Amino acid sequence: DSRAAANIGVVGMAVMGSNLARNLASREGNTVAVFNRSPERTRTLVGEHPEAGFVATESYDEFVASLAKPRTAVIMVQAGKGTDAVISELVSRFEPGDIIVDGGNANFLDTIRREKEISPSGIHFVGAGISGGEEGALKGPSIMPGGSAESYETLGPILSSIAAIAEGEPCVTHVGTDGAGHFVKMVHNGIEYADMQLIAEAYDLIRQGTGKSPAEIADIFAEWNTGELESYLIEITAEVLRQTDAATGQPLVDVILDQAGAKGTGAWTVQNALDLGVPVSGIAEAVFARSLSSRPAQRAAARDLPGPSGDWRPDDEDAFVEDVRRALYASKIIAYSQGFDEIVAGAEQFGWEIKKGDIAKIWRAGCIIRARFLNRIADAYSDDPELVVLVSAPYFRDAVAGTQDSWRRVVAAAAYAGIPTPAFSSSLAYYDGLRAPRLPAALVQGQRDFFGAHTYKRVDKPGVFHTLWSGDR
Ligand code: NAP
Repeated sequence: DSRAAANIGVVGMAVMGSNLARNLASREGNTVAVFNRSPERTRTLVGEHPEAGFVATESYDEFVASLAKPRTAVIMVQAGKGTDAVISELVSRFEPGDIIVDGGNANFLDTIRREKEISPSGIHFVGAGISGGEEGALKGPSIMPGGSAESYETLGPILSSIAAIAEGEPCVTHVGTDGAGHFVKMVHNGIEYADMQLIAEAYDLIRQGTGKSPAEIADIFAEWNTGELESYLIEITAEVLRQTDAATGQPLVDVILDQAGAKGTGAWTVQNALDLGVPVSGIAEAVFARSLSSRPAQRAAARDLPGPSGDWRPDDEDAFVEDVRRALYASKIIAYSQGFDEIVAGAEQFGWEIKKGDIAKIWRAGCIIRARFLNRIADAYSDDPELVVLVSAPYFRDAVAGTQDSWRRVVAAAAYAGIPTPAFSSSLAYYDGLRAPRLPAALVQGQRDFFGAHTYKRVDKPGVFHTLWSGDR
């Protein structure tokens, strides 16, 4: 077919899809077919970017006919119903061996379901997490594809050509089968929530603890960004704090309503962690902190509740700021450690072979949580692929050893000062719980056996026991 000129197609010409299509078109050898349900978006894009050499199409028939076989199409539309609608249009026209990639923010359970429904037809369905927002899609995202190993043989080179590059390596790897890619993307977003909340708490501690202005704190973050905390989120935090509101001349952060929104992937991470029994307390606190912020009625009703009676101020402001920096680093290690725990548990539950070190590597560029210390995570898993808990790796163990006194001082100070630090505090509690030789879980087991005859195990002999408690009814 002479019209079958494109080696890849993109469906969905909103911001993500059009940027991804432009990224694909900019790579040597690619001809990209584009399609959007409402043709205006396609016309606008093609009109604005003649250099891309797009094959513009205005119907599913035309789109499918424009793709060389085996056909490869990437869907970038609204997650959920929109994605299902496009999939069914493509599936009814595609043939065995063709590949459908869903690059949207799908729930991985939907991806598993879709793959199951589609694969009997011989069409490959690949759920691919794509991180990095609009800019990532255009200039190089971090890509987390699932699906069959066979489809990755075709897709791998294309995705590698458009992915972000970290230290010479493209930020893409075959994460695992069916929903593995979207699962890992979900956890990525959960870690992003935790990281953002930790940074926000660090800012709040410094602001309330020292009275420094947002611009002064911007300088502190810019300085932190030259060290072990170096990351995209620290970098943009400095810029956000430095921004002045044109209308009022105030720091912009002071005129932004303090109610954080969410699109749901953080909540998914926590919901799945609960199902898997993985304590992702840092991520959960970050999600809940956004929920708390967005309950104005409760906050208004609580405004007069008593705070600490005394005034708390650090003796030495510079030392306090350094303590906060160290506490942030330690808490961040915990957030990532918990996130990787969830990846391990998900891989076990859903039968994926996920290489943790490779995940750390593809997050080094192109995505929101890109950070210098992901190299340390990659190293930790390459030194010991069976590493049971990330924070126990020698590098992180040493890092926490060097920061934990600061961490404890900061969490204690926050409690004295009445500054809410749910993510800092819960990370420290998790750390202390993890390293405790004995936990009061023994008492909980006793209570459970007391009121429900749930039984318990003993430290000194095998088996399951029940005590005839004197209070037994
Ligand atoms: P979006 O606002 O999520 O979705 C709009 C697009 O979906 C439009 O092209 C729209 O077509 C299409 N669409 C909706 N329902 C449809 C249907 N029933 N049939 C066909 N097309 C339909 O777009 P986006 O912000 O570019 O995001 C695309 C995907 O990437 C989403 O899954 C999103 O979660 C994910 N994502 C977004 C970001 C980001 O930073 N925005 C980052 C990572 C991932 P019409 O023009 O015809 O309405």
